[in-house]
Amino acid sequence: RPRIGVLALQGDFREHIASLTELGADVVPLRRPEEIDALDGVVIPGGESSVMDKLSRAFGVAEPLSAAIRGGLPTYGTCAGMIMLSSRIAAGIPGQQTLDVLDTTVRRNAFGSQNDSFETDIPMPALGDAPVHAVFIRAPVVERHGAGVQVLGALADGQVVAVQQGNVLASAFHPEVAGEDRFHRRFLAMVRSG
Ligand code: GLN
Repeated sequence: RPRIGVLALQGDFREHIASLTELGADVVPLRRPEEIDALDGVVIPGGESSVMDKLSRAFGVAEPLSAAIRGGLPTYGTCAGMIMLSSRIAAGIPGQQTLDVLDTTVRRNAFGSQNDSFETDIPMPALGDAPVHAVFIRAPVVERHGAGVQVLGALADGQVVAVQQGNVLASAFHPEVAGEDRFHRRFLAMVRSG
């Protein structure tokens, strides 16, 4: 069974642990740098990216985790997790850093207070025929992405909300709260083939 670490410093890590456990993975909370080496894959949950950034640096996890992901560790990030993975942030709080492993610029809280949270169905042929039911909660969007980044999903107006670059998968929305398991399945397939 693949051993998956879910970064468990802040945010909705419990939901990811439940989703991955349901799919048969051996899931452990990731809180300390020395736990990274034993992992076959890592998930970075939703939450508040500026807090997750501070805690991951304070606990000494950020730097070795970034290095492991650059070294090929299969990784999936949702919402704040997508922000943590991105190379650049628009509207980050001053001093906010990221793991810098995904060639994207993300805009935090891109949908504003009028549209704080919403749900919609998005066609994503790479994930299968049925559209993905996507739950957005103070979500980011991908404003720019490099040529090596594959767009998996975009809203009807073209805003990019799901991407993959090699071993790094990211969504602006939360499959782990929507009973949508295809992102976690895709991630586990990446782990098995990686
Ligand atoms: N707005 C949060 C942030 O900037 C992300 C929200 C979420 O993860 N649901 O980190």
